[in-house]
Amino acid sequence: AEYRKYYLVDLFRRKGFVRKKCENCGKYFWTLNETRKRCDDQPCSPYTFIGNPPTEKKLDYVNTWKTVERFFVAKKHASIKRYPVVSRWRPDLFFTVASIIDFQRVEGGKVVFQLPANPLIVPQMCLRFNDTPSVGVSGKHYTSFCMLGQTSIAGKGGYWKDRCIDLDFELLTKSFGVEENEVSFIEEVWLGYGAFGYSLEYFVRGLELGNAVFTSFEGTPSKYTPMKERVVDMGAGLERLTWLTQGTPTSYDSNFADVLKKMKEVSNVEYDEALFLRYSRIAGAMNLDDYKTISEARGVIAKSLGVDATRLAGQFGPLEAMYAIADHARTLLFAITDGMLPSNSGGGYNLRVLFRRAQNFIRRYGFRLTLGEVANWHIDYLSRMYPELAEHREDVGEVLSVEEARYTSSSDRVAKIVASVSSSGQSPSTEQLVQLYDSEGVTPEQLSAAGVNVSLPENFYDQVLARHATKQREVEEERPSFAVAKVAPTKLLFYDEGAKFEFKARVLKVFEGKYVVLDRTAFYPRGGGQEPDHGRIGDAQVTEVVKYGDVVIHTVVGKTPRSGTTVDCQVDGTRRRKITQIHTATHILNGSSRQVLGPWVWQHSAFKEEDYGRLDITHFAHLTQQEVEKIEDLANEVVRKNLPVNTSFMPRQEAEEKYGFRIYQGGIVPTRSIRIVNIGNWDIEACGGTHAKRTGDVGLVKITKVERVQDGVERLEFVAGESAIEYAHRMDSALNHVSATLETQRENIAKVAESLKAELEAVRAREKALGLRVVELSTAEVLSSAKEVKGVKLYVGSQSSLSEELIIAQGQKCTESDPSLVYVRVFAIGNSARVVCFVGAKARESGLSAGDIARQVASVLGGSGGGSAAFAQGGGPSLDRIEEAVRSVEGTVASLVRG
Ligand SMILES: [Zn+2]
Ligand SMILES: [Zn+2]
Repeated sequence: AEYRKYYLVDLFRRKGFVRKKCENCGKYFWTLNETRKRCDDQPCSPYTFIGNPPTEKKLDYVNTWKTVERFFVAKKHASIKRYPVVSRWRPDLFFTVASIIDFQRVEGGKVVFQLPANPLIVPQMCLRFNDTPSVGVSGKHYTSFCMLGQTSIAGKGGYWKDRCIDLDFELLTKSFGVEENEVSFIEEVWLGYGAFGYSLEYFVRGLELGNAVFTSFEGTPSKYTPMKERVVDMGAGLERLTWLTQGTPTSYDSNFADVLKKMKEVSNVEYDEALFLRYSRIAGAMNLDDYKTISEARGVIAKSLGVDATRLAGQFGPLEAMYAIADHARTLLFAITDGMLPSNSGGGYNLRVLFRRAQNFIRRYGFRLTLGEVANWHIDYLSRMYPELAEHREDVGEVLSVEEARYTSSSDRVAKIVASVSSSGQSPSTEQLVQLYDSEGVTPEQLSAAGVNVSLPENFYDQVLARHATKQREVEEERPSFAVAKVAPTKLLFYDEGAKFEFKARVLKVFEGKYVVLDRTAFYPRGGGQEPDHGRIGDAQVTEVVKYGDVVIHTVVGKTPRSGTTVDCQVDGTRRRKITQIHTATHILNGSSRQVLGPWVWQHSAFKEEDYGRLDITHFAHLTQQEVEKIEDLANEVVRKNLPVNTSFMPRQEAEEKYGFRIYQGGIVPTRSIRIVNIGNWDIEACGGTHAKRTGDVGLVKITKVERVQDGVERLEFVAGESAIEYAHRMDSALNHVSATLETQRENIAKVAESLKAELEAVRAREKALGLRVVELSTAEVLSSAKEVKGVKLYVGSQSSLSEELIIAQGQKCTESDPSLVYVRVFAIGNSARVVCFVGAKARESGLSAGDIARQVASVLGGSGGGSAAFAQGGGPSLDRIEEAVRSVEGTVASLVRG
C-alpha cells in the first residue's frame, strides 16, 4: 500500500496509531483512539475545546510562542527572527503568505530553497486577505496571523518526516500537556509553487493546529520528478495554539486579550455572554466557505440556536466589529512597519481596503478609538516578541493618521452616495457594488447599515482587489528576431576597475546589417533604468546597446564592420560620465528621501539619462518645498563628504543577511550572486548600473521638479554633476532674458514682476468698470431700437465691441429696465459663433423662454444652446452664418409667442 510509503511515520508505528477512514468525509486519519469513527476536521467533528481546553496551562500569545521556541531550541533548532510581511524577495507576491516563503527564491522560473539555518523555527507573521469578510465573524479567521514555521532540509544536519512528526507530537503532549489519544493526523497532499509533497495535518478537539508538509517532488502529482533537496515545511498557527490552551469563545479573545480589554474600556460593548459561547461553538465548527454570504451563515446559526437572525446580528455585531478592528489594526501595523503604505495600487490597495473596513466599523458603532491607538496597544503587548514594532511606533502612527484624515475628508461624499442609493430603493448588483467601492470608496457594509438590501458575495473583496492586483512581474525579456543564442557570451568590460573607454574587439557576428556582436564590450547596455552608452565601433556610430541573455547587441549606423575583423571601439566618455553622475545621484537621493520622509520610502522606479534623472518614491503625501530642500541639502552633504562607492559581487544569502531586503530597491535579482553597491553605508542596493567611485564625483545634485505620479508615488526629477551645471546655465540665461525684457536688475525681478501683475489687475478692473458704464449708457439706445413682435419688444444685435461678459451685463440690465423686452445678440468669439438671449419677466408671460430661442438660433450656427426661461446662451462653429442667424431671430420669436 502506497500510504505506508508516504504516511506511516515512525511515531505511528512505535505508538501503535491506527489508520482509519472518516465515516463522514472519507478522508484517512491516524489516531490512538480505537473508538474514533470520524476525522477531527470540520464539519466532521465539533470544537470541543471551547470552554474546555485540553492543555495543562492557559497561555497567552507571547508565552505560547515562548513555549514553542523553548521546545524547538532544546531540540537543536535555530530560532530565526521573522522576515518582513512585505515579500520584496518574491516577484510574484506582495505579502509573505506562509513561513516557507521566507526561504524560497525564484531562479529562472524555479523555486530554490535558501535556509539561514537547518533545522529552524520562525514565528512568521503572514498576511492573507482572501477571508476578509469572515474576519471577526467566524471566530478564527485573520488577515494576519503568526505561522510557526518548523523548517528542515533532510540531511545536512536537518531531518525528514519521522523526526518532524515525533517533535510535533512531543510538543503537544509534553510541552502543552495534551493527552496522547487526543492528537490525530489527517492524510493530505499539498500542492505548492511548482512543487508538492505529502502532508499530515494535526488536530486536537476539532481544532486544526498545524500542517506538516514533506515537499519532495517537482511538478504536479500526474507528472513529477523527485527533488534534489527534500524539505520539511511544517506550519502551525500560533493563534490556534493559544486558543486551544484558553478555550475562549473565539480565537480573538485569546490572542487579542490585552488589546480587546483596552478597546472595551473606552468603548463599552454589552452582549449575552452565555448565548455568545453557544453561538461561537456552532460558528467555529462551520465552514463559512459553504455559504454565499455571512448573513446566510448567520441565519443557519440562528436557526440552530432557536433565536431570531436579526436579533443575533444586532447582539453580536458590535463585538464582531471590535474583533475585526483588532485584527485589521494588527495587519496594518506589521505591513507599515515593514515598509508598505496604503494606496490605490498593488498590495497597498489591500491595506487601504482594510483600513476603510475597520474605520467604517468604528464609525458605525461609535467606538471612541482610532486605529492608531489600537495599533499602539498591539505594540505595547507584541513588542516583547517583535521588538522592531516599538522602533516604528511613530512612523506607523503618522501613516495611520494621514490615512484617517483622507478617510474623513471623503466620508461626506460617501454619505451622500449611500443616502441616494438607499432612497432609490434598489439593491445593487455585485458589479455595481464593486464599482461603488472602487470609484467612490462606498463599502457594502455601509450600504447595508443604511438599509440597502445588499447580498454580499464571499469573494467580494477578492473581486475588488483583482482590479488592483498588478504585482510587478518580471517583464518577459524582448527577444530579437535573430538567433543570438548561437553566439558566444560577450565579455563585459564596463564593470572592470580602471575600465577604458577605448578598446579593441573582434566582431563575432553581424545580424541584418546593423546589429553587431563583439567578443568583448565596454558599452553599457540599456538596463536597470539606465540608458545605454553611445560611441563608435570602427567607423560606425553606436545608437543602441541591448543585452539578450549573455550576449550584448550593438545597433550601429554608418559603415558596419565585417564579421571576423578586429575593430577599434570608443565609448562616448562624456555621455557615460554624465549618466554615471545621474545614476549615482539616484542612490544618494533615495537615501536622503528615506532619511527626511520616513522608512516607508522605497524606490518605485527610476530612470537615468545623460542630462536628466527621475526617481519615483513611495510616500503618502505631496512633498512640501521644505521637504524637497531638505532632501536636496542632505544629498549634497553626502556629495561633499566624498564617501566611497563600493561595488562587489556577493552571494545573495549573505547580502540579504548583512543588509536586509532594502537592497531590492530596483526589484529582485534572480541570481545567486548579486552586485551590491554600497555608498558609504548611506544607501546599499543591489544594482547592475555604472556608478561614480566616490560621491564627490557627482559634484552637485539639483532637484528640478516634484510631482505626484499616482496615489502613493512622488516623482523627483533632478540633474547632477555636469548636467546640473548646464541646468544652472540654462536657468541663468532665462533669468537674464526676463531681466532684459523687464528692463531691471536680476535682483529686482520678483518685485518688478509683482508690481507689473498688480498694475495689470488694476487696468483690467478699470476696463471692466468703464465697460459697465458703457452698458448703462447704451440701455436707452437698445430699448429704443427694439421693435414690436406679436406683443413683445425684440432687440436683435450682432457684432459688437463689447466682451461676452459685458454683453451679458447689457442683456440683463435692459430686460430689467423693460420686462417686456426680448434681448438677443449673435456675435463671434475666436473661432466660434455665440448667441446670448434674455427674456424679460413680462415677455415670459407670453410663453417665451430664453432657452428655446437660444437653442433654435444656435442650431442655425451649427451647434446647440440652452438655459433657463430668463437667460440662455449657446453657439456653434458656423461663423459665416451669423448674419443668417440674426435674421432668423424675429421669425423664431414670433413662432414661439403663445396665442
Ligand atoms: Zn471527516
Ligand atoms: Zn545603481
